[in-house]
Amino acid sequence: MNTMKKSALRAFVAGAMLLCATVVAPSFAAPQDDPTASLRPAASLPRPMAMPDGTTMRKIQERGRLIVGVSQDKFAIGFLNPLTNELEGFDIDMAKAMAKAIFGDERKLQIVAVSSAERIPLIQAGKVDMVISTFTINAARKKDIQFSEVYYLSGQKILVAKDSPARSIKDLSGQRVCAPKGSTSAKNIVTANPEAKLVETVEFTDCLVQLQLGKVDAISTDDVILAGLAKQDPLTKVVGPNFTAEPYGIGMSKEQPDLVRFVNGVLVQLKGDGTWKRSYDKWFGAMGAQEPPKGIYVD
Ligand code: GLU
Repeated sequence: MNTMKKSALRAFVAGAMLLCATVVAPSFAAPQDDPTASLRPAASLPRPMAMPDGTTMRKIQERGRLIVGVSQDKFAIGFLNPLTNELEGFDIDMAKAMAKAIFGDERKLQIVAVSSAERIPLIQAGKVDMVISTFTINAARKKDIQFSEVYYLSGQKILVAKDSPARSIKDLSGQRVCAPKGSTSAKNIVTANPEAKLVETVEFTDCLVQLQLGKVDAISTDDVILAGLAKQDPLTKVVGPNFTAEPYGIGMSKEQPDLVRFVNGVLVQLKGDGTWKRSYDKWFGAMGAQEPPKGIYVD
């Protein structure tokens, strides 16, 4: 086979692999090697307003509100509904469920709007009890904070103008691709295509403005975030396949393992009693049916 044919074949095979492969989370020999493994929840949860003495949850109960960092600009995930002036979305539902588990009242919630880069510093400074904001669990982040078990499995794609011929991140060599600072998305762009020109902003909606102004050619981040951006701008489209796995966890302080176990217990409940599914169907249902991911635990 001549060199031209060989390289065409290689390109075809690579393209086909990329199109067919849905990136699945890697599997690990032992749970302790898996960054998505989290602390095992107790067999049962304390009743609301009866958090055990001496626990982090008791301190939160006594304070009278749960402080959660969320995003305010991710449609269907964490966004301000201009009609109701309320924050809504899948992550907001998770935050409300956590407040309900502690207080029996989902309104006992103090929301702090966080950008991608603010998530870890705010947790470390003790300014929030937890961050629920499309937060990918990975080993590097686990050096600084702890995560709950996985509550949603996302993956990274690209968003381009409707008339763009691009089919994957590989087609964006030499083009400007946008993602916020402090996101795994920004790092993944550079890893997946070192010839793409990374443009970093603070928020995802900043990326959308840059795209609309013609200052960037594409946005690349998690499928659910891109689906929301595409809804906000009908002149754009999301292009698959997923080229990373982004397992979402709730971020918490390393100093509060009791809270991590409690949050995992609540997640198990939400995943088992239909609450997770109702929220998924409401916000992401258009992306196809999905079952809640199963937790993996260490003791
Ligand atoms: N899931 C990615 C991350 O945790 C992107 C989403 C975001 O930055 O909010 O970095």
